[in-house]
Amino acid sequence: MSLTVTGTIGIDTVFTPDGQHRENVLGGSCTYFAAAASFYTPVRMVAVVGDDFPPAFRETIARFAGVDTAGLEVRRGSKTFRWGGRYQPDMDHRDTLYTELNVLTEAPPPVPDAYRDSRFVFLANTHPAVQIGLLDQFPDRRLAVADTMDLWIETARAELELLLTRVDGLVLNFDEAEQFTGLRNTVAAGRRLLDFGPRFVVVKKGEHGAILVHRDGIAALPAYPAERVVDPTGAGDSFAGGLMGFLASSRDTGEPTAFDAVRRAMAHGTVIASFTIEAFSLDRLASLSRAEIDARFREYQHMLRLA
Ligand code: AMP
Repeated sequence: MSLTVTGTIGIDTVFTPDGQHRENVLGGSCTYFAAAASFYTPVRMVAVVGDDFPPAFRETIARFAGVDTAGLEVRRGSKTFRWGGRYQPDMDHRDTLYTELNVLTEAPPPVPDAYRDSRFVFLANTHPAVQIGLLDQFPDRRLAVADTMDLWIETARAELELLLTRVDGLVLNFDEAEQFTGLRNTVAAGRRLLDFGPRFVVVKKGEHGAILVHRDGIAALPAYPAERVVDPTGAGDSFAGGLMGFLASSRDTGEPTAFDAVRRAMAHGTVIASFTIEAFSLDRLASLSRAEIDARFREYQHMLRLA
């Protein structure tokens, strides 16, 4: 079923603890999400970049079969969102070096008419006011899930709280859940976030996996134990892309917010994120095949078998 994502498309500079770095590579929350989700279902993008956005990056995005870029606006005279980050030695935590919002401070991108019938909507990281505005443009939605991060918790808390009253699910990192709620216990923080309105909250904990705090129960899924972590950037967005892509592709006509449906979808998110971190930028996703995903998913399933 139709899936639309909105979020950032950006130009990233990333430093990793082993002394490697990449300057001005393709990034952005929407980019990673769409690339990951495209392995499961067609995905429509609503995003805006400036006219400094390299055409080669647009081609990289378009090479993911199933990513519809009709909603990707190139705005003349504006500058693309840019972000720089440095990972700490544990690879799970990072420091933001700079965030240049640029075009994100202007009017949000228009939603193409053809996208308005979307049933699944993912609001990847961007300003919560923009997330709310876009949500309103999908009247037929069956499932709306949002992501957020430190910058927006600090600078746009009121809008974020309003957003939580409007979405079915929230996906965020443990540090962000703690920052939002002031609670260090994952389940307590998740429950506090449920009080704002969503049916479920997924708290991501990097190499320690992800916890589902749902109105109908709690589940914990480990991360796929990766041997080679080159660049964790985009792991969270790819996780969300696998999760939403799987739900949107399901022939199951049941409630997509059901506890078991979300738990199963998280396993797909976990597997696809484990590929993203094997290379900088979207390099690994760009070379990924369906067969590789299926093989790793089977391995992950086998790993979780208890009896
Ligand atoms: P992740 O590692 O999954 O949290 O996502 C990293 C991506 O998010 C990078 O490619 C950045 O371009 C993008 N990003 C960084 N900061 C923000 C922000 N405040 N809002 C939206 N996207 C961001």
